[in-house]
Amino acid sequence: MDKIIIEARVNELATRRGNPHVPFLPSEVVTDCLACADAGASIVHFHGRTEDGAPDHDPAFYLETNAGIRAKSDVLIHPTLGYVANDTDAAGRFAAIERMMEAPETRPDFAPMDCGSLNVDWWNPERGEYDTTDLIYKNSTATLMYFAERIRHHGLTPYLVSWNVSFTRQIEQFLKMGVLKAPAFTCFCMTDEIIFAGHPGTVAGLDAHTAFLPEGCVWTVVNYKGDLFQLTEKIIREGGHISIGLGDYAYAEGGRNLTNPQVIERVVAQARNLGREVADVAETRAILGMN
Ligand code: ZN
Repeated sequence: MDKIIIEARVNELATRRGNPHVPFLPSEVVTDCLACADAGASIVHFHGRTEDGAPDHDPAFYLETNAGIRAKSDVLIHPTLGYVANDTDAAGRFAAIERMMEAPETRPDFAPMDCGSLNVDWWNPERGEYDTTDLIYKNSTATLMYFAERIRHHGLTPYLVSWNVSFTRQIEQFLKMGVLKAPAFTCFCMTDEIIFAGHPGTVAGLDAHTAFLPEGCVWTVVNYKGDLFQLTEKIIREGGHISIGLGDYAYAEGGRNLTNPQVIERVVAQARNLGREVADVAETRAILGMN
């Protein structure tokens, strides 16, 4: 079995109400990502945020953050295209990556492709109703083929996100067409508590994903808004990889707010206890067939 790849997902769109350790500004994200790399993460993923936590998809955020990480670490950098906070055309959604590619010190390693479309409205558990009712995450086939072409052009690695089996089937078709090539790094995105767009973050939800894993895919798992530690032992034993952090879930247990590096340390300890060593950056590159 391959060594395990651990990705730190440090902030997403998470607020500090659940856990005050969510990093927002570039300096905070850089510090957190470097500490996660020291703890065992070989990939770091982050979203641009303003001082008060609002989404910030100005390329300046990513240029500053990537350069800050690059100056001190070779950890693999996985920025976002902005999710629903950057709902424009394909070239507009990819524009920040194009800017990052202009200098070696700001270059990322991955660019994401969420391989399908879905309703991503936020559920409000206190009120028992949706806070939003018109939030559609659109990724047309043409848009995805455009992203794949730009990713190939730049020598980046696609980070493929599958929210449900239909996404995985699109990845499989892209592999057949040559739009993507193996090994294809595929993230099974499960969702819980306040968003129901993905499979539930349960054993059955994960099994339904892996049952359709195409030949040539290497898989990692996210539980967006749910506790991924409910599944980490299963993932480690089954040869998957783990993508986790305060961006997805508060990880505040018994009044103790874990930090991102502490979350990573916990995954590392569990993997080692179960007999799986942790992949460093070079080993991660080898597993994913990266340049
Ligand atoms: Zn993200």
